[in-house]
Amino acid sequence: MKQHLPLVVGNWKMNPTTIAKARKLFLDTRTKLGARKRTVTSVIAAPFPFISELQRLSPSQRIALAAQDVFFEASGAHTGEVSITMLKSVGVSMVIVGHSERRARGEDDDEIYCDVQAVLASKTTVIICVGEKARDSHGNYFGIVEAQIRAALRNVAVKELTRVVIAYEPVWAIGTGKTASAEDAYEMKLFIHKLLTDRYDRKAAEKVRIIYGGSVKKHNATELLTIGQVDGFLIGGASLKASDFTHIIDSAEDYAKNHLT
Ligand code: PEP
Repeated sequence: MKQHLPLVVGNWKMNPTTIAKARKLFLDTRTKLGARKRTVTSVIAAPFPFISELQRLSPSQRIALAAQDVFFEASGAHTGEVSITMLKSVGVSMVIVGHSERRARGEDDDEIYCDVQAVLASKTTVIICVGEKARDSHGNYFGIVEAQIRAALRNVAVKELTRVVIAYEPVWAIGTGKTASAEDAYEMKLFIHKLLTDRYDRKAAEKVRIIYGGSVKKHNATELLTIGQVDGFLIGGASLKASDFTHIIDSAEDYAKNHLT
């Protein structure tokens, strides 16, 4: 099973509270990352109102921009919604779809499927979040993850898979300080890879990046890469502190340099 060069995505969620604070957090992150060329792809998913300002602050896209959600329709009477074309027009190159916090507010597999289709049709990368709410001793959580992936990837063609990222985010680990062990992350990566191999074929499955999210911090990132073999991270809390976020990116960079290049 291939391990890709790391993709590290910071999900700011509904933070920080003002554009001035968003600007500062972004600039601090950019400064700490420095100018050197990296193998790690660094991404920030900011709230919608901040995205175009962040694009202005990072014209070279050394930090790529993601959106935390999208609505699948192209335009029209959809109050409060944002389309993929709008997001692309302000520099977004990746979109998170099906985050557990959105699923908890009623987003279902059908809507997630439509969102995935809209993002891929626009030639943008989609980060599909999957994960169980709780673990049980019978392994039922594998079935939950499988159903979420099968629903999201319906009608997704092999040639689109390089633009598909699956973020395994056990809900019980998000924002709780509890992390899946690196061994559990590895087991889930193997499971998802096997699922994709059965759904497509081995070569096609290798195109999909499988990242981990759920209380990723400075102290556990390297282990999740080394033992967990994940292709990167989706990071909530730690992305709100520039030094913590860039520390994780630096760890991923060191790992990639020593093991993947
Ligand atoms: C997330 O928001 O997707 C997430 C993983 O959050 P945290 O890192 O805070 O657990």
